[in-house]
Amino acid sequence: MAKLFFLYSAMNAGKTTNLLQVAYNYRERDMRPFLMLPEFDCRSGFGVIGSRIGLSADAHTYSVHDNLFERLEQAHLMERIDCVLIDEAQFLTAAQVDQISLFVDTINIPVMCYGLRTDFQGELFPGSARLLALADEVRELKTICWCGKKATMVLRVDDQGRVVSTGAKIQIGGNMHYHSVCRKHWRKQIYAKRPQDSDQLESNNFSEECYTEILSD
Ligand SMILES: [Zn+2]
Repeated sequence: MAKLFFLYSAMNAGKTTNLLQVAYNYRERDMRPFLMLPEFDCRSGFGVIGSRIGLSADAHTYSVHDNLFERLEQAHLMERIDCVLIDEAQFLTAAQVDQISLFVDTINIPVMCYGLRTDFQGELFPGSARLLALADEVRELKTICWCGKKATMVLRVDDQGRVVSTGAKIQIGGNMHYHSVCRKHWRKQIYAKRPQDSDQLESNNFSEECYTEILSD
C-alpha cells in the first residue's frame, strides 16, 4: 500500500533539498516523480522548485481552488507517475490534503508532502494540521537555533531586523525574512545571538541535532 508522508520542519532545514534529492533518486531508477508547488510561490521562478544550495527542478503548480485528486489522477492517466512530491505543503487547504489522501488510497501511489508545521505566530497551518492528522508517516527534518538547541519555531523579521508578530499567515517573498529558533527564543523573540545576551550555547546536543536527514525512500 502506498503511503502519505508529511515531512515537516522549521525554516531552512533542507526540506526542498531533500525533495529534490528524492526526485533525483526516482529518476535515477527510471521512475517518474511528479513535483508540485503553490502557484504563488515564484521565488525560484514560476513553476520552479529551488533550494537554498542552488538545486532546482521544474514543477507543476496548483492553486487553492484545484481538486488535487482530479489533477493527479489526470496526470497519471496521461503519463504514469511513480511518486508525488509537494513542496510548501503547509499552503495546501485541508480539503486538498483529503483529496491527496484519496489519491494515495485509490491510485496506490505515494505522496510526500514537505512543509512547515507552524507559522511565525506558532499556529499550525491548516494544511499542516490536516497532514498531521491524515499522514501515514510524519517525519521531522531537524535544524538548529542559534543557541544550539533544536529549532522548532519560526520568527518573521522585517528589513530593519525587527521581529514581526502580526500580519498575514502567507507572505511569500516581500521584505520579510524568517529565522528558525527554539521555542524559548521564539517566545523571547531573539533570532540571533547578541553581545548583551547571557545565553550561552545551552545544549550539549548540538552535534546530534546539527544535521538534516536525507531520506532516500
Ligand atoms: Zn534557542
